Amino acid sequence: MPLPVRPGLDAVPAYRQGRPAPDGASKLSSNESPHPPLPSVIAAVQDRLAHINRYPDMSAEAVRSRIAERHGVAAEQVTVGAGSVELAAQLIHATAGAGDEVMFAWRSFEAYPSLVRIAGATPVAVPLDADHQHDLDAMLAAITSRTRLIFVCNPNNPTGTVVGADELERFVAAVPRDILVVIDEAYVHFDRSAYFDASGGQGAGVQLFRRHPHVAVLHTFSKAYGLAGLRIGYAIAPTVIAENQRKTAIPFGVTDLAQTAAIASLDAAHELAARIDDVVVQRARLSALLEAAGWSPSPSQANFVWVPSGPRTAHLEELLRAGGVITRAFAGEGVRISSGTAEDIDRVEAALAAGIRISPAQNQHDQHVNEEVHA
Ligand SMILES: *Cc1c(COP(=O)(O)O)cnc(C)c1O
Repeated sequence: MPLPVRPGLDAVPAYRQGRPAPDGASKLSSNESPHPPLPSVIAAVQDRLAHINRYPDMSAEAVRSRIAERHGVAAEQVTVGAGSVELAAQLIHATAGAGDEVMFAWRSFEAYPSLVRIAGATPVAVPLDADHQHDLDAMLAAITSRTRLIFVCNPNNPTGTVVGADELERFVAAVPRDILVVIDEAYVHFDRSAYFDASGGQGAGVQLFRRHPHVAVLHTFSKAYGLAGLRIGYAIAPTVIAENQRKTAIPFGVTDLAQTAAIASLDAAHELAARIDDVVVQRARLSALLEAAGWSPSPSQANFVWVPSGPRTAHLEELLRAGGVITRAFAGEGVRISSGTAEDIDRVEAALAAGIRISPAQNQHDQHVNEEVHA
């Protein structure tokens, strides 16, 4: 007799993590912070290690009240999760079930379609426009009586494109009030467009949350704050949504160490801002290098650059890999390269220069050698 497997799960692909990097290579495949944790954050976590025999504060009160204060919202509207990906799942579970639709742009964050299917709801993927941006008119047109939630990933992963604050507000205002618009701002700290400036450095999402009753915002400590390994993110959502999210959460999902590190990171905002600025500088360099080498990167406001390389995707991925740079490639579509340290981007520069010198035949040979070495 076959073991029980829930119908529908066969349509759910397993989440694909960015490639691990062999020792000494530059891991630019997962949009992590390239900088080591701040000493003050490590010290705060070390102080709490002696308490790991105890369960964490499930309500995460200390960190939630800090976040609420920072954004000028009520603490009851803030929820934390084991990364904002958990909060995306909670928001789906809180609003949608079998027969309901959850909409997002495509290509966008890879977790969305799986999370929707796992909740038993139906994913509705609306293609990005020719400039790899959200096609908000097409998304409005795709709303049905079954639509419960719409994700807007801003800046978008993996294309790095942003929807401007005014355009986003027009969209939110046009979406019926019984549909929740979730603005996923995992990369908002790296946004140097008007979108960011207009919002006083906090992202447009929180402002829209204040002005409209059907908006939620996702932020994470994984990217700009460099805590990807500890797993903590937060949502700001209307009170009734936040209450229902809490019902769907796995108890004690956010560890005490993660809560502690998040507070220590909020305390170190100035140091982190300098690191974020460095990532933005390297992003500009990365884009310029790619352009100079004949690729056409999309303008990015995130901590990565998207190269819509189409049929030349495997070629680009392999020539970077041959130079010790591990990226995230989407077969036949493009390559996403995280903005690393200056040394990481030096390596990209050298790999691109080598790629111009070698013939495609030589490149295929390199690809072979690499697969043998890293198998
Ligand atoms: C990385 C990422 C997240 C969240 O990551 P967590 O580590 O779970 O906080 C959320 N949304 C997008 C678009 C991301 O790229």
